Amino acid sequence: MTNHLFDPLFGRHSGSDTPFVTTPGGATMSHAEFLTLSARMANVFAELKLQKGDRVAVQVGKSVPALAIYAACLRSGLVLLPLNTGYTVSELDYFLQDAEPGLVVCDPAQADALHAILPHGATLLTLDAQGAGSLTDRAAEAAAEHTPLSCGPDDLAAILYTSGTTGRSKGAMLTHDNLLSNAQALADLWRFSERDTLLHALPIFHTHGLFVAVNVCALSGAAMLFHPGFKLDAIIDDLPRATVLMGVPTFYTRLLADARFTRDLVAHMRLFVSGSAPLLAETHEAFEARTGHRILERYGMTETNMNVSNPYDGERRAGTVGFPLPGVDLRITDPQTGATLPEGDIGMIEVRGPNVFKGYWRMPEKTAEELRDNGFFITGDLGQIDAQGYVAIVGRQKDLIISGGYNIYPKEIEVLLDSLPEVNESAVIGVPDADFGEAVLAAVVPAPGTTPDPEALLDRIRPELARFKHPRAIHIVEELPRNTMGKVQKNILRQTFTPKPA
Ligand code: ATP
Ligand code: MG
Repeated sequence: MTNHLFDPLFGRHSGSDTPFVTTPGGATMSHAEFLTLSARMANVFAELKLQKGDRVAVQVGKSVPALAIYAACLRSGLVLLPLNTGYTVSELDYFLQDAEPGLVVCDPAQADALHAILPHGATLLTLDAQGAGSLTDRAAEAAAEHTPLSCGPDDLAAILYTSGTTGRSKGAMLTHDNLLSNAQALADLWRFSERDTLLHALPIFHTHGLFVAVNVCALSGAAMLFHPGFKLDAIIDDLPRATVLMGVPTFYTRLLADARFTRDLVAHMRLFVSGSAPLLAETHEAFEARTGHRILERYGMTETNMNVSNPYDGERRAGTVGFPLPGVDLRITDPQTGATLPEGDIGMIEVRGPNVFKGYWRMPEKTAEELRDNGFFITGDLGQIDAQGYVAIVGRQKDLIISGGYNIYPKEIEVLLDSLPEVNESAVIGVPDADFGEAVLAAVVPAPGTTPDPEALLDRIRPELARFKHPRAIHIVEELPRNTMGKVQKNILRQTFTPKPA
């Protein structure tokens, strides 16, 4: 009997005493100990009579036992449903009714709230509390041996909800082979081995921290330093023990803002990866000037894992996300007609490959809209490919502004605003306009200690922009609305700044 994903990720480490996960408190769990913990949990799932294909919803803080639930689901043929710890009860209610899990695992503090919205027939267990309702306690008493169920490449491994940056989150159905093929491609491309230690400070309810980071380490035998979140002091303390950091752009801006982050501190490291949101060229350059390392930027999403990565050996080009991974086809199409566009043109990024998900959970129409019959997934992101084959992300199609019939890409204006010393960050949006269809507005967060005049900022960027791209106004804001992954929620900005009818 084989289990397509569990065997290569976790199963082959049976008996291995090498460290797998270390937490900042200093506790280290070997690959074999992790495997045993997952076996005990799988035996609890069997006691609950969960059947292959049943969903296990998990809303718990980041911890090693939380990660073991993932391995326990895989070995049991169950479908993991990781839920963002930031979700409110009404959001959780939606996800639980939508996914109908057979088991819900939560932190003790959430138990009452979840109990009140538990779907019919589901069991609720807590992680780390005591007693009959505690997965931790029950696992401690369960047998340490468990034979993984047989699972094939097309069996579901997880339903992962998208970040909800552009609207309501959708449940992406990911198969064993979606996850395995992607981990194999990345481990190979980024040269992961058992000599690596990944500093892991990303959440494990999102594709980046859960699948990219954990799967690549498990597959290659690398170890992880598991941080509950990005706490600067703890990260700086642990960098000397790491060889790789995977992060989002804010990790890098925060490290650069700290004087303890020096060339010496990271001279021994071999790789810094950034993704999930665009990395500013300024951050790229400042990072290289400070450390001598060039960040490797990559691009992906919940529905496809990783698609595109800058090269490990070749030039890591700022403002681009590099080349499609081996096995991934990427094309740029006309968003209206679907026709493939020539090199250099901006259009919809579509991807096809073993990494592409099976569809959205219980959303057949949405699936049919975004997954073409020939296997290409319409990502919703606009991009272009240069003569050397590097892919650049231009922005989301939903954020494209069409004013007076012209296409305006917000990023072009944001880059100009961000380059001004009084601007910390900016977001450019389109709002309804009776004359032009949409009008351009910018929200600007001032640099610390500055109070810029919006008109003066406009005067500085106008000479660089064609007239139709000139923002009608700049709004000074304290901060930009962001979701829990740190992504700017432009739909909220549009609501805030849409002119109210008189
Ligand atoms: P939703 O689909 O629910 O609106 P989301 O698209 O933010 O949310 P994710 O799947 O977490 O959910 O994020 C994937 C998106 O993140 C991509 O489609 C892309 O827009 C953006 N992204 C990821 N990496 C990069 C990158 N390197 N540069 C620019 N954008 C990126
Ligand atoms: Mg998306």
